[in-house]
Amino acid sequence: KKEQESGYKLVKTICTGCAVGCGMLAVVKDDQWLWIEPWINNPINRGKLCCKGASANYIVHSPRRLKYPMIKRNGKWEKISWDEALEIIAKKLYEVRQKYGPDAVFFAGSAKVSTEMAYLQRKFMAFWGSNNIDHQARICHSTTVAGLGNTWGYGAMTNNFNDIRNAKCIIFFSNPSEAHPVSFYHIYEAKKRGAILICCDPRFSRTAAVSDLHLQFRPGTDIALVYGICHEIIKNGWYDEEFIRQRTYGFEYFKEEVMKEDYSPENVEKITGVPAEKIRRAAYILAHNKPATVQYAMGATQHPYGSQNIRSFAILQLLLGNAGKPGGGVNAFRGHDNVQGATDMCVLSHSLPAYYGLSEAAWKHWCKVWNVDYEWIKSRFSSEEMMQKKGFTMSRFAVGATAEKYGWKLDQPSPIKVIIWWGHSTASIGDLKLVKEAFESVELLVVVDPFVETAAALPDRPDGIIILPACTEYEGEGFVTNSGRQIQWRNRVVSPRFDSREDMWILLKLVEKLDKYDPGLYAKFTANFGGKKPEEIRPEEVWDKEITVGSITIGMLGQKSWRIKRQQEYDYTFSEEDCRAYGGPCDGEYWGLPWPCWNEKHPGTPILYRNDIPVWDGGHDFRVKWGTKAPDGQSLLSGVNPQDQLSINGVKWVFAIGETFEDYIKNNMVPSGRGRARFYAWNMKDPVPKHREPLYSPRLDLIEKYPIYEDEKYGDFHYRVKIKARSWQIAWLNAKMTEVFPLIWTSGR
Ligand code: SF4
Repeated sequence: KKEQESGYKLVKTICTGCAVGCGMLAVVKDDQWLWIEPWINNPINRGKLCCKGASANYIVHSPRRLKYPMIKRNGKWEKISWDEALEIIAKKLYEVRQKYGPDAVFFAGSAKVSTEMAYLQRKFMAFWGSNNIDHQARICHSTTVAGLGNTWGYGAMTNNFNDIRNAKCIIFFSNPSEAHPVSFYHIYEAKKRGAILICCDPRFSRTAAVSDLHLQFRPGTDIALVYGICHEIIKNGWYDEEFIRQRTYGFEYFKEEVMKEDYSPENVEKITGVPAEKIRRAAYILAHNKPATVQYAMGATQHPYGSQNIRSFAILQLLLGNAGKPGGGVNAFRGHDNVQGATDMCVLSHSLPAYYGLSEAAWKHWCKVWNVDYEWIKSRFSSEEMMQKKGFTMSRFAVGATAEKYGWKLDQPSPIKVIIWWGHSTASIGDLKLVKEAFESVELLVVVDPFVETAAALPDRPDGIIILPACTEYEGEGFVTNSGRQIQWRNRVVSPRFDSREDMWILLKLVEKLDKYDPGLYAKFTANFGGKKPEEIRPEEVWDKEITVGSITIGMLGQKSWRIKRQQEYDYTFSEEDCRAYGGPCDGEYWGLPWPCWNEKHPGTPILYRNDIPVWDGGHDFRVKWGTKAPDGQSLLSGVNPQDQLSINGVKWVFAIGETFEDYIKNNMVPSGRGRARFYAWNMKDPVPKHREPLYSPRLDLIEKYPIYEDEKYGDFHYRVKIKARSWQIAWLNAKMTEVFPLIWTSGR
């Protein structure tokens, strides 16, 4: 009431500066953003903002904003209307499609848009009929997905920002005090409680300045440094034997490798430049201050062997028994504010949303969600092979666009003729000369951005470029996922400035325009939204009707829009009971219902792989195998974790699908599922591989099995099964098998 009388409005919104996802209160009057107040009850930042967040309103008011759509004609930029711009783009897209096929288009999506928008970008290219789509995550944290995902199942931060305060030791492979400033609020909390900070950085950074120990290693010697620490831990018997026995296989292989003289602190000193004494000290601190957490960001990922860097961090945590514990884990700090959301929606050339991959089963799954015929989607592609084949990536699209010029042979049917460049900084891509040539070679370059992005300024060409002014994230609304897998709703602060438009409107309008040349496209694209016009479709509809229906693999199912919004609306002012009913326990870690969140009653999973609490309270599980050297000679951990656990009468069971369990254990491979798929279960209390039992054993019976989807040919199965334990308690299991995640269950009791 006070707000209404005064004309001032307080709008809860989320900072776009980085992946910490700080909340802020924007003070608005007459549709003008005046200043920022602290949002004290947002548990991620408790009112704190860094200089980037505190100056967020300047982004909206920047004089450098693009004001209206423009086209370059005869070397001059001209103002055009939205209608004309979209008409030209749609016509050109259609012509190129007719002449070269759908693979002549490359779509650079974005981690700077909302999750729904990122999802629609991926969906657009699926409906267009090509996998030529990628975004920033390819450059920044794809090695996290490969390194952690292939180690224990999910390629994401295992814990969350709030949990860092529970750590007794933090080892950095990054510089969070400058790159993710407000995360340091939680790090300082840990320090106040006595945590020891170890900074591994070739530079003396601000993080190093406040750390207790600085390991200043030579750039590129991360793995040697970590292995040197591991060597010392094993030598002194400081590793967690119980944890290793319970949750890993084949530790002896790793031990044999790392205990070679090559990794003695003295030898590692020669490789890394870090004095052996400091390596010993780091090992001692880590072993005697548990739980410890590993924190890293792009300094560790952006290497040719980035995946192995990340795996080595996971190895260290397994060795110390710090995985799956509060205050432990491997905490990947992502870059852009919504890079986690955009990655989850797989704005990536090798997968459909939620990491489903590109198999036929994955396509069928999403066609069902989209409410379109699989055969129709198939007909959109140049061939079935291309439908299941990885498209151009951010690092390869320029090759696709300049192939004709240089006579390069492509493994795609067509060179790139149109580039859509949506919310992406060109300067972040390595080979800028080739990128410039690519932008000059194509028939049309479309740049969508709130600012004059380098992509528009870079090409030296007289025409064939259109720039569309998207509004900033503060002028739009939608869901964003921070690095800790916490989902927040970003409210619109002010209406779009100048003649800029929201990303979702631009994309849907383009589909509507394309419909003129490609009849029926818009109706199919919006099949779940009742034939509404672009301006009428709400982000919540996309979220509730498609994203949280189809994203089974990562458990983005229970985070319905009303739950997230309600959590934010009430902050923590409601009771514990209400918290449970509406959005998880009253604890910062459960804020944003971090995935996996299996249904509308589930509180989310702030810490992945906890096996000390029931799944219904956010528990989870994994087991991994220590392998021998991978072909690249670097990796010592292998295997996707294809299991999940279920608690029945207090006893935890692990489930797996496979032809024979021995094969599965022996190879630690994702069971192929070709041939006969069976369900297996074993008791978590028992050491593997004993006591593994098919579900039809006397201890655990399979009562009913409903195939949701089965494809014998491609080995993809999706079942819902009813299980009876000896105790007669009934448990439900949803089992999904694809190339990536062979099994998940979504319901426990
Ligand atoms: Fe924004 Fe990141 Fe700074 Fe928080 S830490 S205010 S999210 S830039």
